[in-house]
Amino acid sequence: MAGNIMLEVVTPDKSVVSEEAQIVAAPGTHGEFGVLIGHTSFLTTLKVGMLRYKDKAGTERVVFVSGGFSEVLPNKVTVLAESADRRRDIDIERAQAALKRAEQRLAEARTREDIDSRRAQAALQRAIARVRIAGMRRAH
Ligand code: ATP
Repeated sequence: MAGNIMLEVVTPDKSVVSEEAQIVAAPGTHGEFGVLIGHTSFLTTLKVGMLRYKDKAGTERVVFVSGGFSEVLPNKVTVLAESADRRRDIDIERAQAALKRAEQRLAEARTREDIDSRRAQAALQRAIARVRIAGMRRAH
């Protein structure tokens, strides 16, 4: 079926994407899924990772998403993420600093009980994904 799909990516504090897309690929908890217009409706949780889409001009766009949910309807994909950043808005130095901090916390957590290693592990996953996305070439 021809036509574009509406893509909305929102977090508790901002709208990150609100535009038409030719195709959307998102990191579902059970694997990446791709959506074209006319897809069967479904609801899924998301992993920390990379959402990709082609805008209506055909340019590939990449967005960091940290968990949350996605609702797919035949003409619309909605992502409600805990946090999300377009590739071009990622501050790579901040992400690298977050990565280092999380690694230090995880190393310290081996000997200290006051450090929440699950929280540090989650921060590490976010930082790794942001660094990877920010370093991608030929993506927007
Ligand atoms: P940090 O420790 O650097 O805050 P974090 O993974 O804990 O990283 P989040 O809780 O995912 O950060 O996001 C908090 C807010 O900061 C969100 O609005 C998110 O868009 C923004 N943010 C976090 N890291 C970056 C980054 N590297 N570049 C741009 N914005 C960022």
